[in-house]
Amino acid sequence: MTALPLSRSVRRFHRRFRQARVLARALRFPHRPVNAHVIPVRRCNLACAYCNEYDDVSRPVPTADVLGRIDRLARLGTGIVTMSGGEPLLHPDLDAIVARVRASDMIATLITNGYLLTARRIERLNRAGLDHLQISIDNVLPDEVSKKSLKVLDAKLQALAGHAEFDVTVNVVVGAGRRDPDDARLVAGRARALGFAVTVGIIHDHGGQLLPLDERGRRTVEEIVSHGASTFDVASYNRFQRNLARGQPNDWRCRAGARYLYVCEDGLVHWCSQQRGRPGIPLERYGRDDLDREYHTTKPCAPFCTVGCVHRVAQLDELREDPVGALGEWFTPGPDGAAARIPGTVRVLTWMFATGSHRALFRRAAERVLGIR
Ligand code: SF4
Ligand code: SF4
Repeated sequence: MTALPLSRSVRRFHRRFRQARVLARALRFPHRPVNAHVIPVRRCNLACAYCNEYDDVSRPVPTADVLGRIDRLARLGTGIVTMSGGEPLLHPDLDAIVARVRASDMIATLITNGYLLTARRIERLNRAGLDHLQISIDNVLPDEVSKKSLKVLDAKLQALAGHAEFDVTVNVVVGAGRRDPDDARLVAGRARALGFAVTVGIIHDHGGQLLPLDERGRRTVEEIVSHGASTFDVASYNRFQRNLARGQPNDWRCRAGARYLYVCEDGLVHWCSQQRGRPGIPLERYGRDDLDREYHTTKPCAPFCTVGCVHRVAQLDELREDPVGALGEWFTPGPDGAAARIPGTVRVLTWMFATGSHRALFRRAAERVLGIR
């Protein structure tokens, strides 16, 4: 492994500490949002054929409005704020928005198509305190569906590898026979070679619903997940994506509107980008009653939902409510028997905080160290 410069190592340690604190708070306080997506601008500089989350006319949301939304999310006890779009780098004050998230003791993450990244832009995001950036790459060569191709974005990945002090994840997409699964393999290999984490998404329709994969697509998803994915990625694959890849429904409770919030460019809270209008309440009026109601609201779109960030948030609640049962389900062998063993560190943590006779002691100690309030 390549040694990191000291400043990067210190920053990474600090980031892991804060991530652990968000995790601990999420487990401790079920009525606080874990992750909120905020849209600072709906306009995008690209026009991917499958996307329903952009236009080419919107002006950036006034900075004061975005900062007000960040402050409101902080008051609700939100753990992670993700700037999304459209293309969030088109907002002229994105650095100030990121800095406000960090100043509010929340984790700041960004989802971008990467086209506007330069070394100087990356340095500015470093200075603003960005924690994590996700960039999606859809194919090797641009086509009529997507211009988010490795050919165009490889230079941006190299700039990130050289300058980013934040974590970078490259998301590759498989699905619906629209693109060659080998593209996803190639992109994933390139991303790993540059030292980035890789996630794989299954393409969805305009309602966030599954478009089943063919056999090659399924094999590609499993192969990418089996190569160096984090424990949580493997768990998420086993819990949700393995079924979806086979066209099977998932049995789960979507906690959108409670543990996950989608705050659109107009400042309204929706379940997610695919279910705008539900509930469609202004964030400044969104409160504990709304969080409680949506936590318990059954979402009819859940069985074939492909919205990965909401799956992950739901996993935290499964873990909080029934740690042993959740781990058993996450690490159940699939039809091929792959990726099924519960990792040693997870076993130790489960014993310390969930099943061991001193779990109350360990929990109190961890909350004290992490400053959980
Ligand atoms: S880059 Fe992202 S926001 Fe823009 S059109 Fe493509 S998928 Fe949509
Ligand atoms: S199940 Fe939840 S995250 Fe998925 S589409 Fe429906 S509301 Fe959105």
